[in-house]
Amino acid sequence: MGKCKKIGILTSGGDAPGMNACVRAVVRYGISKGCEVFAVYEGYQGLVDNGIKKMEWKDVRGFLSIGGTNIGTARCMAFKKREGRLQGAYHLIKSGVDALIVCGGDGSLTGADLFRSEWNSLNEELLKTGKITQEESDAYKHLNIVGLVGSIDNDMSSTDITIGAVTSLHRICEAVDSISTTALSHSRAFVVEVMGRHCGWLALAAGIATGADFVFLPERPPNENWGDALCAVAHRHRQLGKRKTVVIVAEGAIDSNLKPIRPDDIKNILSERLGLDTRVTTLGHTQRGGSPAAFDRILATIQSVEAVDAVLNSTPETPSPLIGMNNNKVTTGPLMKAVELTHEVADSIAKKDFARAMELRDPQFADEYEAYTASTIMDDSTMSIPQYRRLNVGIIHVGAPAGGMNAATRTAVRYCLNRGHKPFGIYNGFPGLARGNIEELTWIGVDGWTHRGGSELGTNRAVPGENTDMGTIAYQIQQHNIQALMIVGGFEAFSSVINLEAARKQYPALHIPIALIPATVSNNVPGTDFSLGSDTALNAIVESCDAIVQSARSSRRRVFIVEVQGGRSGYLAVEAGLASGASTIYIPEEGVNLARLQSDSRHLMAMYMDDAADKSEGRIILRNETVSKTYTTDVISDILKDEGHALFDSRTAVLGHIQQGVNPSPMDRIRATRLAKCSIDFFEKHTSYALDQAYRSKSPAPIELTNATESAVVVGLSGNCVTYRPVTELIAVTDMKNRKPLDAWWMVHRPLVDLLSGRGLFTPEAQATLSRDI
Ligand code: ADP
Repeated sequence: MGKCKKIGILTSGGDAPGMNACVRAVVRYGISKGCEVFAVYEGYQGLVDNGIKKMEWKDVRGFLSIGGTNIGTARCMAFKKREGRLQGAYHLIKSGVDALIVCGGDGSLTGADLFRSEWNSLNEELLKTGKITQEESDAYKHLNIVGLVGSIDNDMSSTDITIGAVTSLHRICEAVDSISTTALSHSRAFVVEVMGRHCGWLALAAGIATGADFVFLPERPPNENWGDALCAVAHRHRQLGKRKTVVIVAEGAIDSNLKPIRPDDIKNILSERLGLDTRVTTLGHTQRGGSPAAFDRILATIQSVEAVDAVLNSTPETPSPLIGMNNNKVTTGPLMKAVELTHEVADSIAKKDFARAMELRDPQFADEYEAYTASTIMDDSTMSIPQYRRLNVGIIHVGAPAGGMNAATRTAVRYCLNRGHKPFGIYNGFPGLARGNIEELTWIGVDGWTHRGGSELGTNRAVPGENTDMGTIAYQIQQHNIQALMIVGGFEAFSSVINLEAARKQYPALHIPIALIPATVSNNVPGTDFSLGSDTALNAIVESCDAIVQSARSSRRRVFIVEVQGGRSGYLAVEAGLASGASTIYIPEEGVNLARLQSDSRHLMAMYMDDAADKSEGRIILRNETVSKTYTTDVISDILKDEGHALFDSRTAVLGHIQQGVNPSPMDRIRATRLAKCSIDFFEKHTSYALDQAYRSKSPAPIELTNATESAVVVGLSGNCVTYRPVTELIAVTDMKNRKPLDAWWMVHRPLVDLLSGRGLFTPEAQATLSRDI
């Protein structure tokens, strides 16, 4: 292949949390692939002014947990002119950089594409004016450019999510959760303006995740009489007993005549028409700040790895790629097309073609919008279904608590009521059901549940047919005329649905649709990419690891063995390992033995010997709780301490129930809302035939509403879609003994943990020499 690639990385436009994770991954993965990597400081300004610096492996240590961008960003006017770009080309050629990875928003990526399309002519001009030699001109005939989308707005078409958007959503939800307590105390209304320019993603996501009463989005503008609709909803919610009113408004919100809707307009309407004591809060730049959420760290890391691969695989003919994320997979598509489609959103809005604007957003956007309106706005009987189709819906929590259980229950209750169904809360899991611990849930009874952690209904691990009597369960279901059952829980819940489905043969009362919404920190329920609670847990682990590393760095060279949950699944260890920059991880899928520990202790010694003499670095290793009976967290810590000689010390941290988090993460709340709404739709679908027939024959609703295996399902997330997988079908793809799916999509991330922590840096021979020297 000849000379090594020299890759430049720059961050440009508005800063976004996760940009540092991009720089770290590009630098480290690039070096591991034999490339030289250069940081271009201050975005395009660094090209114009020659702010280009070669990066070493160690230069990006600690980057993962830091918000913003450590290599700077700028709005660079000079780069918008050809003269500026000519300077940029000159500096790149003189530094020997022949590929550029740009992380920024649509403006930055438009600039990047223009730069590449002009490259030939810039090269020729530099040659003609004698700025570069013929050899240099020939050697730099092509510039590879790869785009990564760093934008808190999530406003780029062709990708489902952009780097920084989820962290921004975290900041918004933290703020609105805090505002909610004061609003509640004073019975106030709050109008909260969030960022997003032409994109309503942040506003919608925040609206769902905080249980806001109303949202204003650019893609779904209301007509000019929006004040009537707003007041009707706010008034109804107050009538139902609510003491606070929260309205989220996107900064680009407009009405259908394109007239901007300003927070103050909303405030005036709420104060004047409803007499509500209303305050406006503009969140502004707090939305850009803070340590990146686990999701953004992972997204930025896996996309940056793909970006380096794209550089290495590109030819002069390939169009500049944009690295996206679609259907939970990293994707590569043409950069220019993505930029064009993104501009089309603004154009469509300007032309009042709102349907097209919505179409250009990621597919989940429309789905989530529907879930939001169906559970929040449409509580005016417009969604009610005919009396004879209405159901008594039981809701039960099973297994350990997980973030999002309450949010799912709240949405299910509200949506049930909007449709005319009766929601019943079953307290304390199946043992509670066996005791007849059932109560009708009300609209106001579930108010505020969106952001509450734990389980308001109370949860229990008992499984019907195993440690709760199936006959009693069937009896109670029949006794309370429960016609559909929504179970929110983890692997015990999965086993429960299998048993309930199997027991249908014996008990007609179990001939009702059953939907399991997976909720467990371990993310080990088959039939879904993500379970509720797993994102909350990742964030809790990552925050703890950040604190642990900080403490270790401040005192002495120390390795922490951090024990994480997950049962027999390594999901939490792999994803948290990637997001926290762990030195390595021990997971059940691989096991751990003496040889592995020896190799890891050598690696750690090599790393510590390579550190500056006066630096104390903290490092962490994540150990899954069940990986080995012999090599417990304490044993591993002791072994490493002994092997580390005087080079480093070792300590343990068992995170335990901290991993359930205090409040569910915004992602878990949003997933909960979507899955709950879909579960109720599923119940309607699977009961309509029997109920219609009974209605036509003027008979009462039958006890047996469905007996189809397809009516006992896991309602899960597969990429962008909500799927309904019958448990009878899922058994075939489940490792029942180890309580997890046979396939683990996240295992592709596993090698990156070791690679990015420097596993490949020192050859075994070098490690052996180092350990002999001690
Ligand atoms: P974002 O990337 O977040 O959308 P901007 O639109 O401000 O932010 O763009 C960031 C930088 O990208 C600009 O300051 C400029 O240097 C460069 N840029 C943006 N648009 C162009 C363009 N059409 N041509 C050349 N450079 C551009």
